[in-house]
Amino acid sequence: MSVGDVGAAAVLAIEDDADIRLLLRTVLGREGYAVAEAATGREGLRTFHETRPDVVILDIGLPDLDGWQVLERIRDLSDAPVLVLTARSSEADKVRGLNAGADDYLTKPFSHVELLARLQAIRRRRPAPGPVRAGFDDGRVRVDFVRQQAYLDGEPVLLTPTEYRLLSALVRHAGQVLSADQLVELAWDERPNLGPERVKYAVLRLRRKLGWESEASPLRTVRGFGYRYEPLA
Ligand code: CA
Repeated sequence: MSVGDVGAAAVLAIEDDADIRLLLRTVLGREGYAVAEAATGREGLRTFHETRPDVVILDIGLPDLDGWQVLERIRDLSDAPVLVLTARSSEADKVRGLNAGADDYLTKPFSHVELLARLQAIRRRRPAPGPVRAGFDDGRVRVDFVRQQAYLDGEPVLLTPTEYRLLSALVRHAGQVLSADQLVELAWDERPNLGPERVKYAVLRLRRKLGWESEASPLRTVRGFGYRYEPLA
């Protein structure tokens, strides 16, 4: 590896324009980047939490959540570098983007050279995060993120896809409080106005399946804030 070469990396491109996604996939793929794609803000957040990319390329004009909202939710839980794509080139947008936690921004249309240069630059400015974790294991709960299977004290636990994603989100952020909104974002496929009650009952079901109905449950309710998985020390 030469000096200054930060190596290839996993990129998540959140962009609703299929032509631009194709362009990103082609240009970045050629440079050895592994490119994951999402066409909406919600899908982008889901993929972000599942794949933990090294860099995010984020379009601002998206059909559901706009890029600002996506950026805010990424920043709630992560410091991953984010390169914002904007159709506008006003100074106000640039300031807004940088204040919101974007690392840099690129105005469409952009050249391949400029795209690659910006990506290299923001990756150099921030230390690369660790490799994608294949699983979580604190000696009590083990979650295999590849097989999407949870184990309790070595025994497989039968969970619905939503319950699995709920547990997986909580253990990925072990020790950290996640709000009901964040959990909806991370665990539910369909979210027609899912309220905190749905999350509450799903947490109760998950606790029951894990046999954690007592006060000493590692899946804590933090009143007024949300839920936290308390890992074994
Ligand atoms: Ca767009």
